[in-house]
Amino acid sequence: MADAVNRVIGIDIGGTSVKAAVVARDGAVLDEIRLDTDASRGRDWVLSRVSEAVEGLSTIGNNDIGALGIATAGRVNVESGEVVYATDNLPGWQGTHLVTWARENLALRAVADNDANAALLGEAWQGAGRGKRRLIMLTLGTGVGGAYMEDGLLCRGAHWSGGDWGHSILFPRGLPCNCGKKGCAEQYVSGSALLRRAREYTGIQYRSGVEIMKEAAHSHPKALQVLDDYTADLAVLLVNISVTLDPEAIIVGGGVADAGEVWWPLLEKHLQQLGVQTEVSRALLGNRAGIIGAGRLAFELVDS
Ligand SMILES: [Zn+2]
Repeated sequence: MADAVNRVIGIDIGGTSVKAAVVARDGAVLDEIRLDTDASRGRDWVLSRVSEAVEGLSTIGNNDIGALGIATAGRVNVESGEVVYATDNLPGWQGTHLVTWARENLALRAVADNDANAALLGEAWQGAGRGKRRLIMLTLGTGVGGAYMEDGLLCRGAHWSGGDWGHSILFPRGLPCNCGKKGCAEQYVSGSALLRRAREYTGIQYRSGVEIMKEAAHSHPKALQVLDDYTADLAVLLVNISVTLDPEAIIVGGGVADAGEVWWPLLEKHLQQLGVQTEVSRALLGNRAGIIGAGRLAFELVDS
């Protein structure tokens, strides 16, 4: 009988960065690396970054690494390991067979999933969702990701897009979305949408949400108004999720949530006004949720 696997690698591939970590069976991150994706250079380049990240961890040696868990932007067929849909955040990514690639190029058993699914697994295992089995996750970053867990199991849907609330319609006939529809939630509650709203209100091109939060923290009235409107729309999305699926908790993560000190009380006010009963909490693992969740996927693979 083979020795029990105690270490795996979790990797998180996004439009901005590739993150990788050695994850222990108790969820501890033992070694970690982050590289810029430079996604515009195309698929083969991004895959070479993945190799580089994994090799950057190899001080530990691949011999005692049991498997690789891969979280990526886009929709992933978890049975085949293929990216079945990806936006231009990762040009040419659609159609990539990540599991086959990992076996042939890294000589590792692998499993791949969508990054929001991995983030929810990570938060359920080590973060804000510990001890709960019916959970929703929303990630507010460049786009809006979502994931849904029932009785401890991810609900990935018939077309691998389960939990994709970023493309549920918040405002019929609203702003055009890169998915082809109009009025998607992503156009109103993503980090990019927050920057666009701030530019419209103030005429200032902010570089990050953190800049807006800083002004709001100093009671800048226009910055506060931007965040009030932003959280009002986010609350509508959350109430729709709450009434349709009745989870134990909805976890809000992603870059916008990491900088949430100022706007979280505004969101709570709007949730109260809408009578939302579901617990809504901020993610605890920050930008490590994806790599930890990917590690969890790898352990599930070796234990299956
Ligand atoms: Zn859309």
